[in-house]
Amino acid sequence: MSTTKIHTLDLGLGRQRTTASYLIESNGEAALVETGPDSTFPNLVSGLARHGLSPRDVKTVFLTHIHLDHAGGAWRMAMEGATVHVHPRGAPHLADPSKLLASATRIYAEKMDELWGTLEPIPPERLRVTEDGQVLRVGGAEVLVVATPGHAIHHNAYVVDGLAFTGDVGGVRVAGGPVLPPTPPPDIDLPVWRASLARLRELKPAALYPTHFDRFDDVEEHLDALEVELAAWAEWVKSRMDEGKDEAAIVPEFVAWLTGRLRAAGVSEEGLAEYGYALPFAMNVTGLMRYWRNAARA
Ligand SMILES: [Zn+2]
Repeated sequence: MSTTKIHTLDLGLGRQRTTASYLIESNGEAALVETGPDSTFPNLVSGLARHGLSPRDVKTVFLTHIHLDHAGGAWRMAMEGATVHVHPRGAPHLADPSKLLASATRIYAEKMDELWGTLEPIPPERLRVTEDGQVLRVGGAEVLVVATPGHAIHHNAYVVDGLAFTGDVGGVRVAGGPVLPPTPPPDIDLPVWRASLARLRELKPAALYPTHFDRFDDVEEHLDALEVELAAWAEWVKSRMDEGKDEAAIVPEFVAWLTGRLRAAGVSEEGLAEYGYALPFAMNVTGLMRYWRNAARA
C-alpha cells in the first residue's frame, strides 16, 4: 500500500505564505513540485531539512512552468542530482537559460539579484520533457501530467493521488483572500485558459494546491471564482483600451481598482503586500493588453 504525504514548504518569497514548493514523499521516495527561485533556495533547503531531507535525497522535480518564481532554482536541484520534469515548450529555456535571464533582467533590472538570483543551464541528462496525459511515479504515488496552457504556453498541472498541483493556471489565493488570475506577459490566452480550467474540473481533484499558496478543498467554488475573476479583469482592461487609454494610464487605475476590491473582500494591508509578491499587480495589465492586441490582430 502506498503512503503518500504532501508537505508545503514555504519559500518566503518577499513574505511568508506567498510561494510554495510542495514536497511529495511516498514509499521512501521524495519529489518536489516547484523549486521556487534561486534567491530562496536556502529556504527550500531548510524546508527539506525540517522533514529530515537534503536536496540530494530529492530525485525528482516537477515544474508547472518556467517562470522564475516557480522554476528559477531548478538548476540547483539538478546539480544535486534531481531529474527535472518540464513541459516541452519550457525545456529549451532551462537547457539554455540565456533568453529567460535576459528578459527577466530587462524587466527587473537592478532588482534581479535580490528578487530572483541567477540561472545556470540544466544539463540535458537531468531534463525530462513531459507529455500530456503521461503518468509518472514517485514511490507508490501516481503523477498525472496535465498540459494546462493559458497562463503560460509551457504550463503543466500535476495530479498526484487525486490532488491537483495547479501552478499559476489554478490562480493565486493568499492572505485569506479571494482567488485571482495571474496574467503577466507574454502568453495569456483567455479561451485556452478556460479550456485548462475545464480539464481540471473534469479530473475532479479532491483538493487544489496552487503554488501561491497552499491547499484548498473547495475545488469547484475556487475554479468557478477564478474563471469569473479572469473574465472580469479582461473586460475591465479591454474597456479602458477601448477608451483609447495606454498602459501608463491603465496601470495605476487597475492597481487602485484591484486594491479596492481586495480591501472590500476583507484583505488587510499586510495581505495586499502578500498578493503583491504572488502576482505583481502592474504586470497583469501588461499581459492582458498584450492578449487583447493579439486577439484583435488574429
Ligand atoms: Zn507564479
